[in-house]
Amino acid sequence: MTEPATSRPAGRTVELDERLKAYKGVWVFMEMERGHVHPVSWELIGEARKLADTLGVEVWGVLLATPGEANKAAAQSAFAYGADGVYLMEDAILAEYRTAPYTAGLSYLVDTYKPEILLLGATTLGRDLASAVATTLATGLTADCTKLAIDMDTRSMAATRPTFGGSLLCTIHTLKARPQMATVRPRVMAMPAKQAGRTGRIITTDLGLKEEDIVTKVLDYIPDRDQDQAQLAFADFIVAGGRGLGKPENFRLVNDLASVLGAEVGGTRPLVQAGWIGAERQIGQTGKTIRPKLYIAAGISGAIQHRVGVEGADCIVAINSDPNAPIFDFAHFGLVGDATKILPALTEAFRHRLATGNAI
Ligand SMILES: Cc1cc2nc3c(=O)[nH]c(=O)nc-3n(C[C@H](O)[C@H](O)[C@H](O)COP(=O)(O)OP(=O)(O)OC[C@H]3O[C@@H](n4cnc5c(N)ncnc54)[C@H](O)[C@@H]3O)c2cc1C
Repeated sequence: MTEPATSRPAGRTVELDERLKAYKGVWVFMEMERGHVHPVSWELIGEARKLADTLGVEVWGVLLATPGEANKAAAQSAFAYGADGVYLMEDAILAEYRTAPYTAGLSYLVDTYKPEILLLGATTLGRDLASAVATTLATGLTADCTKLAIDMDTRSMAATRPTFGGSLLCTIHTLKARPQMATVRPRVMAMPAKQAGRTGRIITTDLGLKEEDIVTKVLDYIPDRDQDQAQLAFADFIVAGGRGLGKPENFRLVNDLASVLGAEVGGTRPLVQAGWIGAERQIGQTGKTIRPKLYIAAGISGAIQHRVGVEGADCIVAINSDPNAPIFDFAHFGLVGDATKILPALTEAFRHRLATGNAI
């Protein structure tokens, strides 16, 4: 008789050692900039709630900020989105993000209150902070996850992310260290519903660092000049084009449809590389992850690196001349044909429908 197959890779311990058992709860780092919490923090609180319910533990937000009323309001929002409590570390030193004080503050909180899971948004700030905290605490960090789950056999987090240029999805467990850390890009997880009247506890701490202890100084704040440009990640309607449009002039057909629908415009990586569109409009693994209500993809093959960025869309409409294009594997509606003919026809049809007073 042969040994029964086991799905557990060699070396995985089932029983956590006593030191690791002391870590409890799922935390979300609440990214606050100039009084505004980044929406990815709420998306992560929604996800943390699911993980915590599976584990039977609490969800806590962690907010590091300069003292102010905005912090209490942010904590209230965290409760409404599903957090049971918020660790609030207030200090004037934390007014602008700097790696050193934020790393010191977050590492201190983790050491003191011992969460088993710590999630951060894979934003510029989150990526910087997560890697610094993980190395300070000597624990495991899985970056840019697209799925998080709990493996109940080991009580460990199964953190899934694309790897090898998106050709593989790998699931990573941190078995021998705590907390288990992961970053997740904005819009990968769904925004949770806000539950009015939900409350929670606030535990306030201070940082105890002096300005002289920190070598980096913020001299000026220059807002991102691109911040008013494409807001693909948060658009409800997006029309995108790919190489199948043939030539840059044809991209106008995407713009035309988008302007009739009030949609944002996006495209695939080859279009960015060819200079047809700006990099801020690239959708996919190395571009933006989107979650619109409607995504219209014209002349896009549906390569895995593109697919991982669009799968969260409620409705995907693909226009492609090749009925075997991979995009038809995950599109909700498919139009087989020449995008340079179908796009203008759709634009006209929507224009007519909207002009005659019929909502989309
Ligand atoms: C590390 C790495 C990261 C990457 N990151 C990204 C990323 O973030 N985003 C991204 O998009 N790509 C990314 N890519 C590139 C990705 O692998 C694909 O090459 C890319 O998505 C293909 O773009 P496309 O669909 O525009 O072009 P193609 O794959 O060339 O597809 C064109 C499609 O148009 C169709 N077509 C042709 N003529 C017409 C017509 N007249 N009407 C309608 N359809 C027509 C064809 O049938 C075909 O399906 C990445 C690649 C790597 C290696």
